Amino acid sequence: MKLHILGSCSGTEPEPGRHHTSLMLEVNESLYVFDAGENCAWKAHTSGLDLTAIRAIFISHPHIDHIGGLPNLLWTLRKLDWCNPHCMAGKAVDVFTSCEPAFAAVLQLLRHTEGGFNINFSLTHHPLHPGVILQNADLAVETLINHHIPDDRSFSFRIVAGGKVIVFSGDVRSIEELTPWLDAGCDLLLMETGHHKVADICHFVQERPQIRHLTFVHHGRDILDRFTDQWLTCTRLLGPDRVCISHDGQTVNFAEPLNRHTMPTVKL
Ligand SMILES: [Zn+2]
Ligand SMILES: [Zn+2]
Repeated sequence: MKLHILGSCSGTEPEPGRHHTSLMLEVNESLYVFDAGENCAWKAHTSGLDLTAIRAIFISHPHIDHIGGLPNLLWTLRKLDWCNPHCMAGKAVDVFTSCEPAFAAVLQLLRHTEGGFNINFSLTHHPLHPGVILQNADLAVETLINHHIPDDRSFSFRIVAGGKVIVFSGDVRSIEELTPWLDAGCDLLLMETGHHKVADICHFVQERPQIRHLTFVHHGRDILDRFTDQWLTCTRLLGPDRVCISHDGQTVNFAEPLNRHTMPTVKL
């Protein structure tokens, strides 16, 4: 099982070498997408990932740095089916969002693109709700509502797959919102820093040894403007084997110790 970090940035202005948030979990022969930042299809395809293996796409909330790449991702599936006829025939892609109008707008956009959006695979929208939203032979995905935005439209994810437990914050108002999951422990916490201080998150994790590894995603100015300082803060508080500041194109291979993936991110 592998986790591909396709985009590691929050919704800042365009950043050299970084794109909006998107994660892709490769388990067995299938791919599962968690958030779809603007560059996710390009990054995955040019990294050698077979997008036609996508089974489900989960959008934590309808902000553009999490959903902006969804139209292009769906368009790319159609394009790949054209280039390699019928490679998508009979397949099913499930899209989970908290905002049906946003998904409808994505489809509307695609229908107005040259050639329309005629697909020969099943594309189904599912509203997000708290609790287990998908369970199959590959993985189980559970959600909880967080308070990043009002009206119960922002979600966090807990993924159980390959004998591992992964918590992906999405955007959250406070890490405390994830306490029920984090107190129970996880192998990997993917925590956003677009709205939080690196040191605050490290202190929270420091008190919970049941969180085995912390990887920062969705970087905001706290990391982008002071990478070296923030990296030193992370390693001082948690040690270099337990924390990682992710970069675009990074892959976590769960067959190896997670700390093996910390070093490529160090840019001292
Ligand atoms: Zn965001
Ligand atoms: Zn947001």
